[in-house]
Amino acid sequence: MHPKRILAVDIGGSKLLTALASVAAGGHVSFSGRVRRELDRRFGKAEILDAAFRACDETLRAADGGFDAVGITIPGLADPETGTWLYAPFSGIRDFPVAEEFRRRYAKPVAAENDVNACAWAEHIFGACREIDDFLWITVSNGVGGGLVLGGKIFRGAFGSAAEVGHFKVAENGAPCGCGGRGCLEAEAAGPAISRRYAEMTGRAGVSALEIAGAARQGEAAAIEVYRQTGNLLGKAAALAANLLNPAAIVFGGGVSESFDLFRESLENRFRSDIMSFANKEVRLLKTQLGYEAGLFAAASLLYR
Ligand SMILES: [Zn+2]
Repeated sequence: MHPKRILAVDIGGSKLLTALASVAAGGHVSFSGRVRRELDRRFGKAEILDAAFRACDETLRAADGGFDAVGITIPGLADPETGTWLYAPFSGIRDFPVAEEFRRRYAKPVAAENDVNACAWAEHIFGACREIDDFLWITVSNGVGGGLVLGGKIFRGAFGSAAEVGHFKVAENGAPCGCGGRGCLEAEAAGPAISRRYAEMTGRAGVSALEIAGAARQGEAAAIEVYRQTGNLLGKAAALAANLLNPAAIVFGGGVSESFDLFRESLENRFRSDIMSFANKEVRLLKTQLGYEAGLFAAASLLYR
């Protein structure tokens, strides 16, 4: 029995979103009572839980009406069986039984999962991959992450960290990455890299990836070129993944992918030139159908496993 009304909790590295998801027959999802809170990266377990409970209570008041279950996405390594937040790369959080805390408070079924895995799953349940059992989801925002659905199930790898496509090395002696490496896709193609590349080209620092996208749509050559380069690097990484996995699709989500139109051509070109073409003729490169609220879809989708 799949729940129809789900309290969706999207915990990010710097923000928290909650909403009540109503799932109609046919899988159409609508959200009500959206609440957004900034989260301080220094927050520990108690502060995050307190912020999340307050936001949930506000959502439930605004959305008025009951709910059947809770879905939670976590920015870090998760144990989906127990709903434990095992590790967060940006904070001191370790072994945080977040699902158990929600179960205790609301006395409802609770599911929790890593945010990127959950986004991939949401694409399978509600988005572009409803008919597809083997695909890779790549989020391109302030960082780059990957989630894999293989054989109709989330594939986690032996240690829970499969599909770290953000750390594919796409440039020799490239930019330093948060992981300690150099030339990682994340360091070369995420939002901050788009800003950096644009600054190197134009001398204008501090322009966001979104502003650069706006300039590209106005026809500015440097902005267009930055997005072309970004697509080229994403295509290189996507081809490495396709040659390994032979997926039916690779789906791009995250803030930068809202500008998919600006890098689609260079992405496709590089991808088609790098893959073993006979084996991957029918692989499709798609933009997410979940839009900028992917995190809320992701949280809700966890009750559909
Ligand atoms: Zn890296």
